[in-house]
This record gives sequence, structure tokens and C-alpha cells, in this order.
Amino acid sequence: MDAGAVTFPRKQTRRIMVGDVPVGGGAPITVQSMTITKTADHEGTLQQIYALAAAGADIVRCTCNEPEAAEGLARIVPRSPVPIVADIHHQYRRALEALEAGVHCLRLNPGNIRRPEHIKAVASEAKDRGVPIRIGVNGGSLDPELYDKYGGRVTPEAMVESALREIAYFEEVDFDLIKISVKASNVPLMIEAYRQLSEVTDHPLHLGVTEAGPPPAGIVKATAGIATLLAEGIGDTIRYSLTSDPVDEARLGRQLLECFGLRERKNVDLIACPSCGRAEIDVYKIAQQAQEAFKDRLIPLQVAVMGCVVNGPGEARDADIGIAAGNKRGHLFVKGTNVAVVPEDEMVDTLVEWAEFINTEGVEAALDRAKSTRDAARKAAEEDRQRNLDDRGDDVNASEQLVELLRSERTKES
Ligand code: SF4
Repeated sequence: MDAGAVTFPRKQTRRIMVGDVPVGGGAPITVQSMTITKTADHEGTLQQIYALAAAGADIVRCTCNEPEAAEGLARIVPRSPVPIVADIHHQYRRALEALEAGVHCLRLNPGNIRRPEHIKAVASEAKDRGVPIRIGVNGGSLDPELYDKYGGRVTPEAMVESALREIAYFEEVDFDLIKISVKASNVPLMIEAYRQLSEVTDHPLHLGVTEAGPPPAGIVKATAGIATLLAEGIGDTIRYSLTSDPVDEARLGRQLLECFGLRERKNVDLIACPSCGRAEIDVYKIAQQAQEAFKDRLIPLQVAVMGCVVNGPGEARDADIGIAAGNKRGHLFVKGTNVAVVPEDEMVDTLVEWAEFINTEGVEAALDRAKSTRDAARKAAEEDRQRNLDDRGDDVNASEQLVELLRSERTKES
């Protein structure tokens, strides 16, 4: 089966609009992140919002924790390149001020704003303005009454009930521009809470593992939770909550969606072999250099860095372009066809130059460009391939020798 044809059917949800960005109802899954500046510092916050948008964030959240933050939002919203969500925790008045400031969405934590009249006042105002609200249940700040009801534990059922109670208040004032999250830092708990929630509601869901922590463990936790649910068709918008530069959150969110085929590729998909005894270069170093060189280039191609010419071009034949190391030189290949040979220290530059060429002119044009060098390139690759096989043999990892060793030790024991 063609890997590109594998898709994950998505659960149908209602659609809401966060500013001009659709969420749910079959819209492309969106990436969110949150600023870590003081929202009152509107220039600093805007700078960060621009950086997040450039890294792939479709929607950005800013805290609205004090009156000055609401004033900051009034200045930020008209100049922001993406819709802004105001994060409200304890004071419902901040929500009303954020709406006044023109935000495109609110996030309310039902565990922290609990008086029904306050919740309904915010929902009524949001309804009049056509602004959606995310019900942001958080395992760490669950309504104490629900905590007690479920035996002094945070359970998926308690989190779902918290969200449903909030929806009921919203329904009393006829407000339904809702999205919901039930985040927890415990991955299995979070996964089960979202599964249960998606069974009982068709409001769009915002996925995240809260307080996932610093990379790399934080990335693993966030990916485990979000990716599991996406593969089950659950989720309409996502956020990585990392103890790290929020630009990383936006970039990772985007990358996750791209690798699932849920968003169109914007950047290079860099593949690289893990290296082995046959490698003719430091694959890690060259892959790092390539990653750095492609980081900010919007080239939606698959690019391969392979440690040897014996297996590299074959294993990466689906890549749009790749380089495989030979005898102190690099063998450049386009869709598995050798096109040029370059000195080792020019491998990354050449890769970038050809990727840019393919991005603007296409694969056929690149193969055409190499018409006069293709034969020589194939011959050189074959020479280096043979030399590698002669030097290192077919069994580069010496597995046959190891098997012999194991057998002889067994014989000695018996
Ligand atoms: S055989 Fe070549 S391409 Fe495969 S892992 Fe080893 S060095 Fe990389």
C-alpha cells in the first residue's frame, strides 16, 4: 500500500471560527501555542506572536491575568498576524475585559471560575460578540467538589463531568460556540479523558498534555498523548505545553501534523539513516548541519542524508533528493537516480542548492539538469559502493562472526 494513501478517519465535530481560523467540522487541524511575555508588554508580546506564527502557530494564547493585560490585548489584537485567545483563570471580569479588547476566543478554566452567574455572564457577552470559548479543564485544578465526588482522585470521568457542567451553564444562555480540552500531565489519564469526552460531545476538541515538562521527555509525553488521539481521529486543534521556548511548541505541533499527513508540508522532511559500521561520514554531524541549513527555508521536500552509498540511495529512493557518502565524497541522488558527485565538505551546500532548484523547477527539470553528469555519477557511485563492500564486506556488523562465537561458547559449556 502506498504510505501516502494511509489516512486516519476523523470524528465529525461542529465547526467554530476563532477569528478567521476554522476549528472543527473537518477543518485542517490547527497548531496553538502561548506567549510567555507579560501581556501588558504589548510590543514584546507581539514580537513573540510573530515568531510563533512564523514557526507554524495558527492561533496564539496570551494570559489575561490583570487589568493591564487586558489593555495589552487591546493593542495586540489589531496588529496580530493570527487570532488571539485570552487565557482566564480566576477572575471572570478579566474575561469581560478581554472580550472588550476584541480577542477572538476565551479560555476559561471551570475549576477556577465556579460561580454559575459569573460563567453565564461571560457566555452571554461572548454570545453577543460571536466569540467562542474553550472550556479548559485541567487535571491539576479540577473543581474540588468533583475531586471529592470521585473519591479524592482526578479521573477521566471527573474531568469529563467538569466539561459537561460548564456546557450546561453555557446552554442556559443559549451559547454554543464551544471547544473543549481535558488536559492532564498523566498521559494515560489524558488519553482516556479525551476518548470519553469525544463519545459524549461533538464540540471541537483542543488536545494537549499539560505541564509536559522540558525536552526531550516533555516532547515524548506530549507526542504520546496527542499522537495517540489524532490516530484515533480525535482532536481539532493541538498544543505542545513544554518548559521550553514556545517557538519549539509551535514548530513541534506543526511537524507532528505534517508527519501524520494532517497538514500540508511547509518545511523539509529530513530523513537520515541511523549510521552503522558501513558509514563513510559522521552521519549525525552532516544530518545536524542539513537540519540547520534547511530550518528556515520553506521547502516542502523530503531530503535524505545517508551514511554510505551501498544502501543509502536505495533505502531513500522515495526522497525527492538525497546525499550518500562515498570515498571522501558525496553522491547526490534525485528520486534514487545519481545526478552528481561532490567533495565531502560541499555535501550540505549542494543538497540545499539542488533542493531549492527542485522546489522551483521540479524533479523532471533536476533530472534534465543532470543529463550530462548522470552516467559519470552512477559510475562513481558504483565504484565507491564496490570499494565499501570490498573493504567492509557484506556483513559489516560482523553478525556471522558473532553467531559463530555464541555457538562455540555454547559448545564449550556443554
Ligand atoms: S548501511 Fe549505509 S545507509 Fe544504512 S545505516 Fe549503514 S551507513 Fe547508513
